[in-house]
Amino acid sequence: MEGRIYRFLGGDLSYGITVNEKNGGAVCSVLRDMKTGKYLFKGERDVFFLIARNLATGDEITVTSSAGWREVSVAGSKNAGSVVFSSHEKLPGVTVVITATGDGEFLSFDTELINTGREYSLYKCAYPALYFNINKNTDFFYPYGCGETKPSTITEGWHTEQSYPSYGASMQYLCFWNKNIRRGVYYGCHDPYPASKKLCCDRKKDDKIFCLKVWQLLSDITKGRNSQKLNGSLKLKAFDGDWYDAALVYRDFIENEANYCSDYGDYGKKDTPEWFKNIDCWFNHRVIDNEAFADLIIEQAGKLKIKPAIHLYYWHQIPYDNDYPHYFPMKPHVETELKKLHEAGIRVMPYINGRLWDTRDRGSEDFEFTSVAKPYAAKGLDGEPITETYASKESDGSPVRLAVMCPSATLWQDKVAELVEKLFEVGFDGVYIDQIAAAEAKPCTDAGHKHPAGGGEWWCRAYNTMLERIARSKPADRMLTTECTADPFLKHLDGYLTWIWIRNDQVPAFPAVFSDKIISYGTDYRGLGNLDFRLDGNLDEAGVRVFAAQSFLFGQQMGWITTQLFARMPHKDFFIHLVNERAKFRRYFIGGHVLRQPVITDDGGKIALTKCREAYKGYVESNCVNGMLWEEKSTGKRLLLLVNSGDKDVNADIKTILSDGKYNIKGDKETEVEIKDGGFRLSMPPLSLCYIEV
Ligand SMILES: [Zn+2]
Repeated sequence: MEGRIYRFLGGDLSYGITVNEKNGGAVCSVLRDMKTGKYLFKGERDVFFLIARNLATGDEITVTSSAGWREVSVAGSKNAGSVVFSSHEKLPGVTVVITATGDGEFLSFDTELINTGREYSLYKCAYPALYFNINKNTDFFYPYGCGETKPSTITEGWHTEQSYPSYGASMQYLCFWNKNIRRGVYYGCHDPYPASKKLCCDRKKDDKIFCLKVWQLLSDITKGRNSQKLNGSLKLKAFDGDWYDAALVYRDFIENEANYCSDYGDYGKKDTPEWFKNIDCWFNHRVIDNEAFADLIIEQAGKLKIKPAIHLYYWHQIPYDNDYPHYFPMKPHVETELKKLHEAGIRVMPYINGRLWDTRDRGSEDFEFTSVAKPYAAKGLDGEPITETYASKESDGSPVRLAVMCPSATLWQDKVAELVEKLFEVGFDGVYIDQIAAAEAKPCTDAGHKHPAGGGEWWCRAYNTMLERIARSKPADRMLTTECTADPFLKHLDGYLTWIWIRNDQVPAFPAVFSDKIISYGTDYRGLGNLDFRLDGNLDEAGVRVFAAQSFLFGQQMGWITTQLFARMPHKDFFIHLVNERAKFRRYFIGGHVLRQPVITDDGGKIALTKCREAYKGYVESNCVNGMLWEEKSTGKRLLLLVNSGDKDVNADIKTILSDGKYNIKGDKETEVEIKDGGFRLSMPPLSLCYIEV
C-alpha cells in the first residue's frame, strides 16, 4: 500500500501502520524488536476487521482497515498516537479510533467505536492483530486447556478460533517466540472483568505470515448508535525467553489488575477447606439403579495410602442430561451410601449442571420450562431460547433439547443456589457445577434481561455474582468446583476439573499462572485410547503412563477415573506410586510456583499415542523423561521432579536453573549427581520418579 508509515513505540516494540490518507485505508506493515534490531514482520495485513448488522434485514457488512474509508488520519506521537478511520463507504456513520500508547514495557492498544447511525448495529470487532514472518525457530502459544505450543511453520497451516472464556481458551493471551535467540512477543487482553472474546491463531498453508488476533462480540447488538470501547486494553510486549516468560507477564496482570483473581496466600486460596488441599486422587462414580456403591469405592480406595475423593454422577432419579434442573429427589439409597463413605474418611462431591434447563423437563413433557424458565433462558437474535443437544435422548428417541439459562437471571441464580444448598444439607462435601468454565458465553439478546444485548463483560460478571452468592452462604468446610479452566470464574470456586488436559504439545502455562490460586484436578483417562465413555473397555497403556506422569508433574490432583476402570487400569502400580508420592509435595503444588522447566533429552525414544479423543489428529507424543521445577513460596525450597514414563531404563540429560554443585537424588533411585554448567546426566529405571529437593 502506498502511503506513509507511522510507527508506534512501546517497550522494545515498534508497530508500524502504513496509512493511505487519500485512498482510504491502513495496514499493519512492520513489527520490529528494537532490542535485537530484528524485523519480526514485514508485509501488508489488515489492522482490524469490523462487522455491522443491518437492523432491518439482518445482513452483515464486513469492513477492514485496508479499504473503503474516506478519511484515515493520524494524530499524536510515537508514544501516544491515534489512527482514526471514518466515513466508510459502506458504513458512513461509523468511526474507529485506535490509540497506541507506550506504556512502560508494553505497547498498549485501545479501540473505540463510534456509531452515529440508526440503520446498523456494530456487531463484531477485532483488536489490532499481531503478525510475524514464520521461520523454523519460531513457535506460537495458545491457551487451550493448560496451554499448547506449535511450530509456526506447521506444514498444513493452522486455524483456530477459540472462545474465551471456555475450555478452548483458559486465559486471554497468545504469544510467539524464537527458540534460537529466545525472544518473543506477548499479545494479551488485559481486561479486568472480563468480556467474552475469540482468540485466533491463523496461517494458511502456503502463507509465510502468521497472525495472532482477538476479536469481540459487541454489546447492544440489537440497536443502532451502539458506540463503545473494546473491553480492556490490548497489550504487546517483547520478552526474553519462551512461553514460560509470557505466562509470567499474564500472571502479573492476574495478580495486580484482574478483578477476578482469588484471595490466595502461601498455601493456596485462603478459604478453600484444608481437606480439599490434601486430596491427591479422585475417582468418579456413576450410581446405577440401587447398587450399594460405597463398598466398591472403599475397596478400590484401600489400594492407595491416602483417601481419594469421589465425584458422584447419577445420584439423582432423573436421567443424565435430561429433565434438568429437577435433580431432587435423590436415588433413595444415596444418603446411606454417603454415610458409609464418610465413615471411611472419603469425601464426596455430586454433579449438577450450572447452565441448562431441559425444554421437556418431565419425561417428554414440558413441565416448567415454558411456564417458569423460558423467560430467563438466553435468547438468540431470533428471540428464541438458545438450546443445545448432547448424547441424551427423550423416551421417544428424540434428542434432549436443553436451553442455556441466562446467568444474569435471578431465577437461575436462585435455582443453582437452592440446589447447592440442598446438597450441602444432605451432607456432601462439595458440589461440582458443570460447564461454567467450559462453555462459551452466549450472546443473549433478551430485552427483558438486565444486561446489554450480545457480548460484553456481563456474562462473566453474572456468573461471578451467582458463584459469590453460593460461596458466601456455604459452610466453611465445603467446596465448589466446575468443569475446565477458563480463568474468569476462579474467584469464588475452589477447583477446576482439568479432564481435557490430555492433548499434544501441552505446556504448564495455566499452572504457572494459577497453581497457588485454584486447585486443578482430574485427567480423563478414557480419552487417551478414544474409549467411548459410555462403554466399558480397556485403557490405553501408554496413555496411562504419559498422563499419570504429566498430571503429577503439573501439580494436578490425580485420577478422576471410575472405580471400575481403576480396577483394571494398566500400570496401576505406577499410578498409585505417583499418587502416594504426591502427598509429600502438596506444599509445592498448592502453595508454590512453577519455575522455568528443565530441558530434558533422553535415549528412550518417543512414546507415541495415536487415538487420543481430544488431541489434534488424535496424536500425542512424549519423551520418556519429563520434569518440572517447583518452588514453595513460604520457604523458597525448590523441588526438581523427574519422571520416566518409559518402560525401560533410560539415560536423561537434564538442563536446569538449579545452581551448579552436588545434589542428592531421592525417590526410586538414590544417588548423588553434580550439576555442571546447569546440566547433569541421570539414568532412570522404567516407570520411576526421582527428585532433588533443596
Ligand atoms: Zn440474558
